[in-house]
Amino acid sequence: MENNEKVIGIPRGMSFYHNYPFYWGFFTDLGIKIVLSDMTTKQTMTSGSSLVVTETCLPIKVYIGHVLNLIDRGVDKIFVPSIQSIAPKIYNCSKIRGLPDLVRNVVKKDFTMIEATLDKSEKNHGLYDFLYEIASQFGITDTERIKKAAKAGWRTYNNFHIMSKSGMSYKKAMNYALQGKVFIENQTKEYPISIALVSHGYNIFDERTSMKIFDKLEKMDVKVYSSLNLSNEQMDDGIAALGQDMYWANEREMTGCAGHYLKSAKIDGIITLTAFGCGPDSLMIERIIRKAKKFNKPLLNLTIDEQTGEAGFITRLEAFVDMLFRKKRAKIINNMEINSESSYIPNTNYIEVNN
Ligand code: SF4
Repeated sequence: MENNEKVIGIPRGMSFYHNYPFYWGFFTDLGIKIVLSDMTTKQTMTSGSSLVVTETCLPIKVYIGHVLNLIDRGVDKIFVPSIQSIAPKIYNCSKIRGLPDLVRNVVKKDFTMIEATLDKSEKNHGLYDFLYEIASQFGITDTERIKKAAKAGWRTYNNFHIMSKSGMSYKKAMNYALQGKVFIENQTKEYPISIALVSHGYNIFDERTSMKIFDKLEKMDVKVYSSLNLSNEQMDDGIAALGQDMYWANEREMTGCAGHYLKSAKIDGIITLTAFGCGPDSLMIERIIRKAKKFNKPLLNLTIDEQTGEAGFITRLEAFVDMLFRKKRAKIINNMEINSESSYIPNTNYIEVNN
């Protein structure tokens, strides 16, 4: 790295999976080079797990592993945000809120933490205060320059979300957004089965923790929908469908997404993917399972931890998809029988009029 070059390390974990397009636009516009940690591996999980108590949730273990990866690669300044609340009175879980303190307490290595607090429930902790706090740690205090960089961040972020909502895959939408491109994907392929995958971005878009669940389902001829395909209004409506007010910030991703897809006729089944050790999710899942029964939608709940084996994971996915295929086939045959019976009923009104 050149002398005087401004560099920030970003761990591939937690808010990275939703906010990276924004961070990319923002830091690049400020002339700050981003170094990402390597993709998650078994080693990332092992090194992260070794520093925290066993009961800690998997995403936090993975995040710690990514911080260690950046330190090992010689990155000094590492971005660790504390995202307290994303809207008035709507809070993140304590681990997300206290992320900088958690990292400081367990990673006893030499590095500089670029920490900042985003708390929309408090005065002076809004987005621009958050961005100012970050930029000032690189000696940038010109507010107009920071606002311009924020606009660049929003542009990349919005482009990414436009493409995701059009049904484009996460990876493809991310690649195009970082290149400053926007494409709308035309869905031409028809899928016999559609599933909604209900989880947090850090569980399902990390290919190691999710064991490439999107690719696996695609190979089984299943169309997969997630919260990324929904607007905020659709997710708020989903939360209301489950008879709930939102308190947890990531409730939108879980109950909002589940509520929306449970009502949707195009969805044949729901898969929830939760991390071992997650308190908020265990509460939300209970509610989703109860509602799935009410909506008569098949639901598969998968819990992941660092020991989850791929073979067992695939077997459960295959069994669930197979059951959905059989259910759908039976429904189609049933409808055909009803239709074929009705086609033999003579239309007496028509006969009378013509006589
Ligand atoms: S919401 Fe759950 S999985 Fe996410 S950081 Fe909090 S405890 Fe961990």
